Amino acid sequence: MPLEIDLSGCRVLVTGGSQGIGRGLAFGFAEAGAEVVVNDISAERADAVAGELRERGGRAVAAVFDVTDYAAVGRAVADAGAGAVDVLINNAGNAGAEGWGSGRARFVETEPTDWERYLQINLYGVMNCAHAVLPSMISRGWGRIITIVSDAGRTGDPGMAAYSAAKAGAAGLTRALAIETGRYGITINNIALGTMRTPATEGMWTDIDHPRVKQTLQRYVVRRPGKPEDVAPLAVFLASQQAEWITGQTYPVNGGFSFAL
Ligand code: NAP
Repeated sequence: MPLEIDLSGCRVLVTGGSQGIGRGLAFGFAEAGAEVVVNDISAERADAVAGELRERGGRAVAAVFDVTDYAAVGRAVADAGAGAVDVLINNAGNAGAEGWGSGRARFVETEPTDWERYLQINLYGVMNCAHAVLPSMISRGWGRIITIVSDAGRTGDPGMAAYSAAKAGAAGLTRALAIETGRYGITINNIALGTMRTPATEGMWTDIDHPRVKQTLQRYVVRRPGKPEDVAPLAVFLASQQAEWITGQTYPVNGGFSFAL
C-alpha cells in the first residue's frame, strides 16, 4: 500500500519556523497540504517564509511571538490569526552557535544564569506551547505534538550540560503528556537530531578542516551533517492519521551518530 499523506485539513504551528530546521519543516508540511503557521521572534523572517509558501500555492501565515513568554503564547494561539492548532511542532531552541563557540563550557565553570536561557527556550518554551494548544486538541478529540530534541539529551554532550538537561526534560515532558492525552486521540512524539547544518551552527562549517569538525563528522555513519530537509519526512508521517498508534516515542534523525534507545 503506498503511503500517501494528505494533511490538507490540518493547521500546523511550527515554532522557530523562519530558518534552519523550522523552515525545512514549514516547507515539508506545506508540501503535504497543511496550512502552516510560521512562528518566530523575527517578524521579517517569519513573514518572508509565510510569503514564500503562499507564492508556491500553499496556505501560510506568520505568527510572531516568543515561545518563552507564557502569556504571549496563549494570546497567539487564541488569536484568530493562528486559529485552532491541529499539529504543534516545538522546534524553537538554542544550542547552536553557543554550543560550538564560546558558550561551550564545563558545567562547574557555569552559573545558574548561564543555564536559564537553555531551560527557558528548550523546556519552558515547549511547556508553554503544549499548554496553550492542548485544551483545544482535547475538546476536538485529535491532535499531534512533535518536539525537536537532540542527541545531546539522549547521550549527554560535554560542555553543553544545561542544553542536554533541557532537551532531556522536554522529551520527558512530552512522554508524560502522551500518557495524559492518548485517550483523546492525541499523539506526542520527539525527534532527536544530530548535528545539522543550519544558521545556528554555521560558524562550525566555516572551517570544515578544523580537527574538532572532522572528529565530529567521523562519528556519523552517514558522513555528512544533517540538512533541514532531512527532518520533515518523519515529522509529516508522525503528524498523519497513519501514525495514530505511535506516541510517547523519541526517534533519532542523526546519520547514525548513536544507536542508544
Ligand atoms: P536556528 O537556526 O537558530 O533556528 C531557530 C529559530 O528559532 C530562529 O529563527 C530563532 O530566531 C528562533 N527563535 C529563537 N528563540 C525563539 C523564541 N524564544 N521564540 C520563537 N522563536 C525563537 O536553529 P536550528 O539549528 O534550526 O535548530 C532548531 C531546533 O533543532 C532547536 O530546537 C535545536 O535545539 C534543535 N537541534 C538543532 C541541532 C543543530 O545541529 N542545528 C541539533 C540538534 C537539535 P533567532 O535566530 O532570531 O534567535
